[in-house]
Amino acid sequence: MTPVIELTDVSKVYPGDVHALRGASLRIESGELLAVVGPSGSGKSTMLQLMGTLDHPSSGTVRLLGHEVEAMTDRQLSAVRAHWIGFVFQQFFLTPYLSAAENVATGLLYNGVPKAERLRRARHTLGRVGLGHRVGHRPAELSGGERQRVAIARALVGAPAIVLADEPTGALDSASGRGVLELLHELHEDGTTIAVITHDMDIARSLPRRVELLDGMVRHDSGLVPA
Ligand code: ADP
Repeated sequence: MTPVIELTDVSKVYPGDVHALRGASLRIESGELLAVVGPSGSGKSTMLQLMGTLDHPSSGTVRLLGHEVEAMTDRQLSAVRAHWIGFVFQQFFLTPYLSAAENVATGLLYNGVPKAERLRRARHTLGRVGLGHRVGHRPAELSGGERQRVAIARALVGAPAIVLADEPTGALDSASGRGVLELLHELHEDGTTIAVITHDMDIARSLPRRVELLDGMVRHDSGLVPA
């Protein structure tokens, strides 16, 4: 089957000759739940940006569902981000004056879905993340863990090929963080493909596959079968 994301020998050099990634390769298959883990400066955010088509590699190839990112126009890349990728960030990035359902519905703004249908799907997806009773609440009326669930619902509402979650528990207390991780496991059991970017080895160990980065290289990938 075509991998959801395939990085082949990817390097990224930032101005100032900073080698953030050095020949990293990674294949993510549909239905996987994996951690990309490494200390600060190891290249995790850079890898996330490349996987999310937010930046281009200096060399090597990035493919999403078999399509090479370098060959796409800006318009195609916007469509890829709208339809295939759901982003979740440490700081949630919810709009304060919108209800939970309206926030989730913004995940469909660029998918050509009419407003009433966007809201219907948003309410349904809030139910999936355990927030069916909070659809009308604004972010300030929700706990940190609930806010992150809203952000996860927003990432999921368009049924993306993959959810990229950047330190999704980083701003949460440990109990809320555990709840969010449990939710990611549940979504994985339902077939959602999820990559969690984290510096936290305990979180990484709790996931089925770990890709360990160090100095811009994949130091270990528990998903690779030894040759
Ligand atoms: P991590 O997410 O693991 O902390 P990053 O991918 O953010 O790692 O960073 C990898 C290396 O690239 C670091 O040395 C960082 O300082 C450098 N870096 C990241 N982004 C930029 C940038 N926009 N310009 C220059 N250097 C950068």
